[in-house]
Amino acid sequence: MSKETSFITKCIHVGNGIDKETRAIRRPITMANCYRLPEDASSINWSDPNQILYTRNTSANQLYLQQRLASLEGAEDCVVLASGVAALAGVFFTFLDKNSHVICSNVSYIAVYRLLNEYLPEKYNIETSLVDTSNLEEIKKAIRPNTRLIHVETPGNPTTRISDIEEIAKIAKSAGALLSVDSTFASPYLQRPLELGADLVIHSLTKYINGHGDAMGGAVLGKKDLIDKIKAQAMVNLGGTISPFNAWLIMRGVVTLPLRMEQHSHTALKVAQYLESNSSVKFVAYPGLESHPQHEIAKKQMKLYSGIIAFALKADAETHNKFINSLELIVPAVSLGHDESLIVYTGASDERINFYPENFRDGYIRFSVGLESAEDIIEDLKQALQKCGL
Ligand SMILES: *Cc1c(COP(=O)(O)O)cnc(C)c1O
Repeated sequence: MSKETSFITKCIHVGNGIDKETRAIRRPITMANCYRLPEDASSINWSDPNQILYTRNTSANQLYLQQRLASLEGAEDCVVLASGVAALAGVFFTFLDKNSHVICSNVSYIAVYRLLNEYLPEKYNIETSLVDTSNLEEIKKAIRPNTRLIHVETPGNPTTRISDIEEIAKIAKSAGALLSVDSTFASPYLQRPLELGADLVIHSLTKYINGHGDAMGGAVLGKKDLIDKIKAQAMVNLGGTISPFNAWLIMRGVVTLPLRMEQHSHTALKVAQYLESNSSVKFVAYPGLESHPQHEIAKKQMKLYSGIIAFALKADAETHNKFINSLELIVPAVSLGHDESLIVYTGASDERINFYPENFRDGYIRFSVGLESAEDIIEDLKQALQKCGL
């Protein structure tokens, strides 16, 4: 398939093929731990993560999915792992040596915060600077001679903070550091960090890319030499390999990614506008709103603004809980990017709360707007607010 082939066509066709034995027009799920060796195995590299030999090193379904995701992200290569966190840990354990320094978004996924701020510094003497990566000056000031990696999450979970990938890539380049971007909230349909100069893109496949809430996975994409290093560490040596069944499910989920991201984004904008117009709402953070502090950067680097909204009510924790439990359609659960709308209220107890924008600090709601109609979602929010006397 050529580089010009459209995104949705790649979602459907890349990595698929005719099964040689049955002539099925879809790849089968190959649930095997190992594969028949060649007659002369004397010259085999037993740890080759690109040869199908033993499923911890790679599997057929994993290779098909890697091919598809690489084409969508415009990447030379891709490694798919057991979860988004396995992908993030794969990047950190592969590229951070002892005594090296990393700069990271001060609001990022909780496992990233703990790995970079606690685990790796304590065990391997890695130094971490947590900065507001929407502020380029803060990043520049944090650079040190031993800075190996800048890691940003954009949009950030849960604040929806946007960081300017193109500008940060320039800073990373001049510092001789790698830039890794967790692009989970956007998916490759809305944002392609490699085209903006990032070295590595990370996705939790559990979220939008699978999109159906029934499988976990993670991916890292970038140049082949970098990805090969991650494969050798994260799978062969650390064992974070994805199950072939999950790889197959995600391969099926990604087929409709563009359709879903359009629907999520258009609905979320309507829902965010409704919330912003409601006098019982304290604040709404959604990159598609003009009131979002980095709306202009989002507009520059994203096609649409995805489906995650953060907001809070002008109310105490008890009322927030009552609101969440009064919802009839929207499901209170963690995770995001599923077909159904998911909502979670986080009180002020979060260990990262002091890094959050001021208006988040008394507690906030993270709302993953699903594929239901905007009218039904807004109706559900309205009736729940009413039950709370708001
Ligand atoms: C969920 C999430 C992760 C972790 O992914 P898992 O698949 O749950 O391990 C990482 N980054 C972001 C932005 C996420 O939302």
